[in-house]
Formats: sequence, C-alpha cells, structure tokens
Amino acid sequence: MLTRESFENLDKDDQLAYCRDLFDLSPNLVYLNGNSLGAMPKSVTGKLKELAEKEWSGGLIRSWLTSSWYEMPQRIGDKIARLIGAGPGEVIVADSTSVNLFKLVAAALNKQKPRYKIVADTENFPTDLYVLQGLASMLPQVELVLAERDQLEQLVDENTAILVLAQTAYKSGELYDMEAVTALAQSKGALMLWDLSHSCGAFPVDLNGVGADLAVGCGYKYLNGGPGAPAYLYVAKTLQADLKQPLAGWMGHADPFAMSLEYQPAEGIRSMLCGTHPVIGMASLEQGVDLFGDIDMQLVVMKSRQMGELFIRLVEERCSDYGFKLASPRDSSKRGSQVSFQHDQAYAIMQALIERDVIGDFRAPDCIRFGFTPLYLRYVDIWRAVDRLEEVMENALWNDEKYKSKNAVT
Ligand SMILES: *Cc1c(COP(=O)(O)O)cnc(C)c1O
Repeated sequence: MLTRESFENLDKDDQLAYCRDLFDLSPNLVYLNGNSLGAMPKSVTGKLKELAEKEWSGGLIRSWLTSSWYEMPQRIGDKIARLIGAGPGEVIVADSTSVNLFKLVAAALNKQKPRYKIVADTENFPTDLYVLQGLASMLPQVELVLAERDQLEQLVDENTAILVLAQTAYKSGELYDMEAVTALAQSKGALMLWDLSHSCGAFPVDLNGVGADLAVGCGYKYLNGGPGAPAYLYVAKTLQADLKQPLAGWMGHADPFAMSLEYQPAEGIRSMLCGTHPVIGMASLEQGVDLFGDIDMQLVVMKSRQMGELFIRLVEERCSDYGFKLASPRDSSKRGSQVSFQHDQAYAIMQALIERDVIGDFRAPDCIRFGFTPLYLRYVDIWRAVDRLEEVMENALWNDEKYKSKNAVT
C-alpha cells in the first residue's frame, strides 16, 4: 500500500521541487489541468506592469524598436526550438495553433502537387480535423483521409501529400513513435507534420533527430504562456525555401516597411508570419518559456512518468470498486504527461472534484483527464487528488443535481 508519507518523501528528494515557487499557485489547490491551461509564472505580473506602464504607455510606437517588440516572434521561437529539438531559425511564434496548421498544410499541399491526399487520424484534436476539413472543402481536388492508428501504413500512399498527427493524443495521452511514423510518411514521399501541443514542455521532443518536416504547437499548455497565448510553428531548414503559405501578410514580407504593392516573402521562417503579433500575449508567453531556461528535460520526463504511474496505482488501490476504466496506456513510455479514466458519471465526478479543489477536466463522452506538470506539481498533490476522488466516490458526492448540467467550457 502506498502511504501519504511516501509521497512527502518523494517531494523532499525532488530536484525540480524549487520550480513550484516560480508559479503563482494557492497551496491548497491540486491543479491537474496544466495540460489545458498552464499555471501563471509569478514573473508575469511584473512584466505586464512594465509593459503597460513603460513600454506601451511611455514608449508608445518607439517600443517596437527600443523594447524589441519587433523581434519577439523569432526570439521566442528560438527559445522554444531548444525544447523541441529544432535549430535557430526553424521555429517562429505566431497566430494560434489552428491558424498555423492551416498555413503549413496549405503550403505543403501546394508544394506536393499533384499529390492530393491529407492523411490524419481520428485521435487528433478536433480543431486540427476541422482545419483540415476546411482546407479540403476549399480545394476541390484535395481529399482528407481519416485513419485509425493502426491503418497509417496502409493509408499513406504515393498520393499522400502530408501526414498530420498529434504526437500525444489529447484524450488518451497515447504517444506516437515519432521516428518510426516520420520515416513511414517520408518513405512514401509524404511530408510529416506533428502537432506538439500536448508534448512541448512536458517531455523532450527531437524534431531534427527524427527528421520531421513540419510542426505546430500551443503556447498556453505546458509552456504556461497564458490564456489564448500565441502558438508556434516549425519548418525544417531544408524545406523553408520551397514553402509558400497562403496567409501572406505584411509581417511575412521581405521588407514590410518598404510598403511595396507586391508581396515578396521574407527569407526563412519569417515568411510564415501573417499580421502584427499580439505583443502583450507574446510577453506573457516569453515568461513561461523562459522558466524552462536551463531545466533538464530528462528530469521533467522522469517526474512526469513517475507521477502518472503513482496516480494509476493509487486509483487502482483505492477506487477499484467504483467502475473506473483506465483510458490511457499503462506503459508510461507510451503515454504523454496525462492519465484518463472512463466512467459513466465522468462529468459529474469531475465537477465534484473541482469543487473540492482538485482540478482536472472532462473530455466527452466519458473521460476524466488528469494532467501532470512536473514543474509545479508536488507528489503529495497526487496523493491528495486520489484521496478526494475516493471521498467523492465512497459518498456518491457526484450524485447531486448541480453537477449534472454541462457548462460551456468543460
Ligand atoms: C490545444 C490544442 C490545440 C489548440 O488550438 P487553438 O488554435 O489554440 O485553439 C490544437 N491542437 C492540439 C493537438 C491541441 O492539443
């Protein structure tokens, strides 16, 4: 049997324990939803105050130069590159994940003509599928093929322009073997695009190592960039000269302030920009990204796996009578930094937990999902979460009318 004391001892030995204090988190809160919206770095408050009072209010338009606003997309992109195994000039921060996906897939389709298929899987995040559906409906010759995980080998063929997958499935947390799947796509002549939204910041990713062509990802999850933070995209150096994205705005122009009548794409990754970036959102994101500074991502992944394993063990020890079914891979090397369980009453159970200061989330139709963010979670949080879950189940606290009607955001 696991004891609370054993979790407290793990916290004492945790080399990442000091990181929690870099975030603004109430000591009583067990926050297992950093995979959806990361916690706020304490440094954000000061940075935003400085931005408002000095850079915006005082500096006004001069701050594009004097406070280096103009360089933010590339500067922050280069910092994110380190976390995903990309080189300088291969990552840029811009727009949202959805919009970045649109830009890259449209550019890839253009480059790959006469190939006409986009292959994606059914475990992909809905917005990714919707963007691909939108592209396919706009381009009559393009076809979107949806595959199950085990059908990729069969469905990626000589007509496939691009394979689009999330490395970490948002619901189950199941991982793809990036190296093997990238090789599969490229062996058929397709480009490989990875969505790293649930990967980057949770464990090391090596885009250059696996030879990936393209990637997108989110700024507000494990990167702790704040609600609706800008996203990022990656284009391998070798592909950059060949890719033309369709949202050709002036910030992607070779010389925006020449104000010429003709679009001329910038060289390199800057051509992936569209319009003026949101400086306030970028500033928050940079605080989140800077926290990773020189943190060893091997420590992060080890803690994440251990937390997931302990969580599963505890739920199975203490809640085995209540009908939970593990909906994530048991093997932590095949799982991202999250664990999901299926249950008929998943929504009401999660509402009851949230009211008791254990925040996870519900994913339709029947999953409760718990994310593990090694920078600011304590091992004892795992203990407390399952303790509350047992209390909610043992006393059927979920069985209350107020937990039954669904909110607009789950
Ligand atoms: C969170 C997430 C997104 C979010 O897209 P937005 O454009 O920021 O809303 C996209 N794809 C995946 C796989 C995600 O996990």
